[in-house]
Formats: sequence, C-alpha cells, structure tokens
Amino acid sequence: MASYEKILERVEKPARYIGGELNAVTKPWTEVRLRVALAFPDIYEIGFSHLGLRLLYQRINDHPAYLAERVYAPAKDMEEELRKTGLPLFSLETRHPLNQFDVVGFTLQYELSYTNILNMMNLAGIPLKREERGEADPLIIGGGPGSFNPEPLTAFFDLFLLGEGEDAILEILASMAKAKENALSKQEMKKELLKIEGVYVPEFYTVEYEQEGKIAALYPVPPAPPVVAKRILPDLTTAYLPEKDLVPWVEPVHDRAMVELFRGCTRGCRFCQAGMIYRPVRERAPAVLKDYLEKIIAQTGYEEASLTSLSSADYSQINELLSALTDCFSPQGVRLSLPSLRIDSFSPELAARFQGGRKVGLTFAPEAGTERLRRVINKNLTDAEILTTAREAFAAGWQRLKLYFMIGLPTETDPDLEGIVTLARQVLTIGRDLNGKKAGRVQVTVSVSTFVPKPHTPFQWRPQISLAETERRQNFLRERLVGRGLNFSWHDPRLSQMEGVLSRGDRRLGNALAKAWELGCSFDSWPDQFRWDLWQEAMAVTGLKMEEYTRARAYDEILPWDHLSAGLKKAYLQSEDQRAEQGQTTPDCRPRQNCSTCGVCASLNIHPQLLRR
Ligand code: SF4
Repeated sequence: MASYEKILERVEKPARYIGGELNAVTKPWTEVRLRVALAFPDIYEIGFSHLGLRLLYQRINDHPAYLAERVYAPAKDMEEELRKTGLPLFSLETRHPLNQFDVVGFTLQYELSYTNILNMMNLAGIPLKREERGEADPLIIGGGPGSFNPEPLTAFFDLFLLGEGEDAILEILASMAKAKENALSKQEMKKELLKIEGVYVPEFYTVEYEQEGKIAALYPVPPAPPVVAKRILPDLTTAYLPEKDLVPWVEPVHDRAMVELFRGCTRGCRFCQAGMIYRPVRERAPAVLKDYLEKIIAQTGYEEASLTSLSSADYSQINELLSALTDCFSPQGVRLSLPSLRIDSFSPELAARFQGGRKVGLTFAPEAGTERLRRVINKNLTDAEILTTAREAFAAGWQRLKLYFMIGLPTETDPDLEGIVTLARQVLTIGRDLNGKKAGRVQVTVSVSTFVPKPHTPFQWRPQISLAETERRQNFLRERLVGRGLNFSWHDPRLSQMEGVLSRGDRRLGNALAKAWELGCSFDSWPDQFRWDLWQEAMAVTGLKMEEYTRARAYDEILPWDHLSAGLKKAYLQSEDQRAEQGQTTPDCRPRQNCSTCGVCASLNIHPQLLRR
C-alpha cells in the first residue's frame, strides 16, 4: 500500500503538502462538531498568498467547536502520484482525505481556476455533480468574488456565500452543526442555511432558457428569497483580525505579513468589479493596524508588511499611519509595501518609503491611452498628470517604469491605441532627458491586458472584443512600441476570451466546464498550461458558442446573476454605462455630497466609514 510519505519523496516540492508551518493549527478530529477543509484551487505558493483564506482559517480554528484545515491544488507531479497510487487528495494539517470533512470551502478568486476545483474534487473522491453526491459527502461551498456570478459552477456546489465571510462562516457552521446533531437531511440543512444573509443555494432557483440561449425566466423556489444580498461588515475597525498568521515552508508569491487598510473603494472606475462589489469604503483605525502588524511581525519574523486595499494610498490617514509604522518597524529592518499606487496619489517620498528606499521599478496604471477613453471608464487622469508623475519618479531616481493598460475598452478606437504609444514615448523621453548620461538605463514597459466585462459593473452589458480583434490591436501596439528603452508585454488573448466566457457565464456552461476538465484542462490561468484547443472542443461538444457569452446584452435582458445582489441598483449601473458612452465622468464618492446613490448604502443600511473626509 502506497503511503503519503512515499509519494512525497517523489514530488518536486514536498513541502507544499506537509503542513505543520509555524502557527498552523491541528485539532483533535473527534473533539469538534464540524470539520472544514479550506481549499484554494491553485498551488501552495499562490494560495498561501491569499489573505482571505488565511483569515478564515484562523477565524474557524479560533472557535472551539470547529476545525479548519487547508488544501491547495496539487501540482501536476503530485496529481500524477495521487492518481498512480490511488491515494485521495488530503488536507495539509492531518492528511485526512477531503471527502471526510463536513465542508469543503473553495475560494473563487478567478474564473480560470474553475477546472482545478473539479480536479481537486475528483482527486478527493468527491462526486462532481451535486445530484450525484450523497448524505455522507461534504457540503461544497464557494466564496470570494466569483460568488457574485457562480452560475457556471452551480451544478457542482451546494451553496455560495456572497460578500464578506468573517462572521457569516460561523453562522453557516452553527446552522450546519445544529442540523447535523438533529440528523437533518442535506436538503433540510440547506433550507435552514437559506435563512442566513448572503447564502445562495442554487438549487432553490430555476432558470429557463430561450431557444438561442438567452434566459427566459429566473425565479426562486420557496422558501428561497427572490434576491440574495451580499454580506458586509459595517465596521472594519471592530471586525475580526487573527491573533496569529501562518509562516510558509515554500516561498509564496507574496511572502509577507498583510493587513487590509480598508475595504471598498470610492473611485467608481466603471470596469472594476472589485470597486463595485466591495462598496462602500470602510477604513480600519490606524491603531488597530499597527497593533496587528506589531503582533504578527513579532511572532512570524516576516521582513515585509504589505498594506493592502484596492487603492491603498487613498487611506485617509496614510501619512500618519506611515510615520507610525516606519518608527516602529524601521529599527527592525521591516519594509513596508503598498501593492497599488495610483498615479494621482503618487509622491516620490511615499513611494520611496514603501520600497524601503530602494528604487526598484514602479508600476502605474493609466488603463487607457487617451483622456477621452479614461473619461469613458471614469479613471479621471489627464495626460499631464501622468507625465508629471513620471517626471517626479525619474527625478527621484527610478529608471524603470511599467505602464499598465487595457485594450478593448468600450468605445476604444485606433487613436486610443495610438495614445498608448504616444504616452509611452513621452514617458521614455522624460526619463531619458532626466537621466543624462545614464539615459540608456531608462526602461518603459507597456503591459497590456484585454478588457473583460464583469458582472455587477456598469459595463456588464458591453461586448468583449473578439480574439481576432484582440490580436489585431495587440499587433498594432507591438509594431509601434519598438526601439531602445521601450518594452511591450501582453496577456495571451485566448485566456482573456475564456475568462470572459466564464465571468458572464450561465448554468449551461457547467457541462462545458466538466467536459473541459475531462479532456484534460487544469491550471487554465497558467499560460503554459492553458489548452485553448480543449476548451474549444468542450464548448463545441456541449453545443455552446463562446460568442454567446462575450456578446453585448440588452438592458432588459435577464442576466444570469440578476438574483444575486452586491447592493448596486441596476438603474445606477445603466446610468453609469450611458454616462460612459457620452464621456461623462462621475465624481469620487469620498466627499459625502458626491454620493452618486449607487444603492449600496441604502439597500444594505450601511455608511461609508472614513477616518477623515
Ligand atoms: S451609496 Fe453613495 S456613498 Fe454609498 S457607496 Fe454608493 S456612491 Fe458611495
């Protein structure tokens, strides 16, 4: 009989699977009411970097009645060993097969991880389709941004949690534990779970389709509510923060302590799903942030602390916070990092502070090449602001700048693409002029991805540009962004097409997803693993066309996610889409008088929480 120890000897990075990291929690199985496997559908190095999973892991384990263990997608070599030996996929902490847990909770962070979910369930011996699972099988739960349109996954999952999970997960577990102790069937248990705010149980909703695949009707089956509204924490300062954090064995993508300065965003960029679904903004008090980081750094020895958020420099007490953190951590040699610096909140002092005085590259995201198109997407930056920021960065000693853009944004034409080229050349010229004899060291990289319209954004009705058109626009840029000091990088357009299909997908896509996995698709977000040919085959054999999903939608069409609410009024999203068409901007809702009545605050009975307006 093969053993886990034996197969660990044969895989490339066994430390991915052994658990036992500093602050990992191992509880006796027989002494808890419920056991949860928190599953991330990508490898250890990526999944470990996900703050949400680390937070829920400690949250559940802090409760005496439950235990949480982790599992990440096994790399290909490990998968091969598991299949060869017939051993099921197991948890890191106690090596229990996943099918022995009461709950397997998957993080739905990006659509191109969905085939990995099916692969992990299969490796664990869990029947993929919900209707094929029995009473003894675990409840399969999904959470994360993908829950705001999980329709392609509904055949495989029992329920999804919309919104923030810190409190909701304990309510779900309490309800499940009670149901288990009362020997309720799974069906009865799910009826109870329906009562929890933010819980979406897809089998309680019926979807009917028209001939050509549009949705004819979407309605709840009693006792499900017509619309499931997201969960939200009204106050981040008093919200749960763990006492401990894990320290990895294998270096993760983000090897550092992390804390969220705030959730939500006030900017209103029309393409940004995160900016819409996590509204309103809620800032955490500086004292809480400092206490937390002091505790975590002391116990873990991390040498970097990342202050995360959608637009971290918008934190209203950023300078005070930085001073306090620098005083505290500089003597210990702990660097601070800020994952996203907006062009209009950049200052060389701020950036230098975050990079610990090192002048490594800087990344800015103008998103679009012309002021006109930036007004369309409500990313209200002028060319002058971008060039001024570039000048300040070069003058302060940076020599490598990366400019991030999207192509295929609504109303984009070739002059907008030309604008990307012009902007990049102007930035390069500024860098060269300021660097004198060292001009040759200046590098400007234009990084381009394809715009994917996302649910719950003003652009949810917009078409996604075709593969051929994406390639044409990429070629347009590639031909022009040549010359010393200019670099061009781009995302594989086929991955963007697939992401677009899944992100606005419906329940019919579940068959294609299962077929793609059967044919051998996994790790679709990895360009070297992605199999466009197999996805095309999967779509064809299940009678679906990619264009059905990337097409424009009419305002009155029923959307697959119409019964799931982030709190945004449809009328607001439509009006934002129309304002985009007319090139009209909408102000940042940080000043109270600028509230654009998106619907979130009123419908969720919540207020933006700003430390200073
Ligand atoms: S309701 Fe107003 S303040 Fe609240 S998130 Fe929407 S726009 Fe911002």
